[in-house]
Amino acid sequence: MADKVKGVIKKLKIWRSLKFRLFVILFLMGLVPTLIIKEGILQNYENRAVAVRQSDVQNQLKIIANHLITYNYLQDTSSEVINAELEQLSNLYSGRVLIINGNLKVVKDTYGISEGRTIISEEVIKCLKGTTMSNYDEKNGFIEITTPIVETVSAQTATDKIPEGTELTRGVLLTSVSTDIIRSTLDILDHRAFIIMIIMFVCILVIAMVLTQILIRPFDRISRAINEIKDDHIDEPISVPDYLETEHIVDAFNSLIRRMKIVDNSRQEFVANVSHELKTPITSMKVLADSLLGQQDVPVQLYREFLVDIAEEIDREDKTINDLLALVKMDKTAAKLNISVVHMNNLAEIILKRLRPIARKNDIELNLVSAREVLAEVDEVKMSLILTNLVENAIKYNKEHGEVTVTLDADHQFFTVEVADTGIGIPEDAMLQIYERFYRVDKSHSREIGGTGLGLAITKSAIRLHRGTIRAESKLGEGTRFLVKMPLIHGST
Ligand code: ADP
Repeated sequence: MADKVKGVIKKLKIWRSLKFRLFVILFLMGLVPTLIIKEGILQNYENRAVAVRQSDVQNQLKIIANHLITYNYLQDTSSEVINAELEQLSNLYSGRVLIINGNLKVVKDTYGISEGRTIISEEVIKCLKGTTMSNYDEKNGFIEITTPIVETVSAQTATDKIPEGTELTRGVLLTSVSTDIIRSTLDILDHRAFIIMIIMFVCILVIAMVLTQILIRPFDRISRAINEIKDDHIDEPISVPDYLETEHIVDAFNSLIRRMKIVDNSRQEFVANVSHELKTPITSMKVLADSLLGQQDVPVQLYREFLVDIAEEIDREDKTINDLLALVKMDKTAAKLNISVVHMNNLAEIILKRLRPIARKNDIELNLVSAREVLAEVDEVKMSLILTNLVENAIKYNKEHGEVTVTLDADHQFFTVEVADTGIGIPEDAMLQIYERFYRVDKSHSREIGGTGLGLAITKSAIRLHRGTIRAESKLGEGTRFLVKMPLIHGST
């Protein structure tokens, strides 16, 4: 049942509104204390009024009890003075007085009903032993009081057994007084309190509504600002510093917008770069073809030369497209690494062997230094791509008779591959950009030697997929050192 109620509450859309919740909280915070105060005051009044009445009646009864002894009323009930006093008391408090003697016999009843009867009740018996008792019967609206009628032994009546001053209980005054007057005062007070409560209720309702509206306003402002950005395509950061919470939301939103802007800019830049890179070989081919077509009786030798150039341009186009595909694949298959345990020393050896013919053309020496045997959990194809790209660059941007050294090392957690060359180096201000797609330090030189500007971007993506890092150190004119660090066990970092 409780779950059902919870389910219904959850489904109620209004309950999910912060505005509504705040309103309910504020309203209850105003209403509950008011109700408690009202109930408290009325209850307090009732207790106090009953206590005052009890003590008033008890005082009167004590005086009457003394008079009863003085006038020997328990034996002779004809005393007019006493009867008048009893009459006055019962009229004043709309009550009934029973006078009971030591034999539990009623000698006087102001209602005249129970005279001569014997009353055996716990209260009366206790009272005969000297205890005064007072009970408030809230339900029936009366207070019942038992007062002992006590005689103090005088010098004349004193005996050896009962010395002077002894207090003897001769009978009991059993009185019940109405509390109707207290009830009716209470009803009047209750009625007035109810009217005040209604006024308070309306005031609290209005205050809660106004306060909720004020408190919730910054959140409305945030949604308005976000909608403005959405509709008018503004990319100014928004600011709602009213609360720390709204400031946090706005900060997060602004940084999201900033990030989206960066992504959008880099996407635009990428598309522009791709178009440019793909267009360049096509333009060259068009120029070459046009110049052949524009001439008459072109010698076969020239045809051959131009066709060789055109074939080179086609190769470049092909390489750029292949690199682009590799890059896109790297982004797409983020989760799909084909992990196996790879003997890194062997892999490096194979790659160096494959690249040696290219290195030999420029008389560049390729060395492999294995500080230890390295077995690592990696994607072999991607790892080959990383090593090939780095070593290829080290050959491409080297000097004649230069050197490339690949060093493999590992600790208990990571393995490192260092590719160091004695080449042209990278200027310091270009160090951060070399990993960007299509970035080349010297565009024409890179193109001449067949670079697409995508090699390091692909390398960095592949390293990141393995949760590794890459960094470079370089001295212009002296050489460059790339250091790759990767976990030995896949998924351990
Ligand atoms: P590219 O296809 O042009 O080689 P890369 O992304 O592999 O593209 O490299 C980007 C740029 O970084 C290169 O154009 C080159 O200027 C520079 N670079 C990369 N590796 C080296 C290196 N070992 N020595 C000097 N410059 C390098």
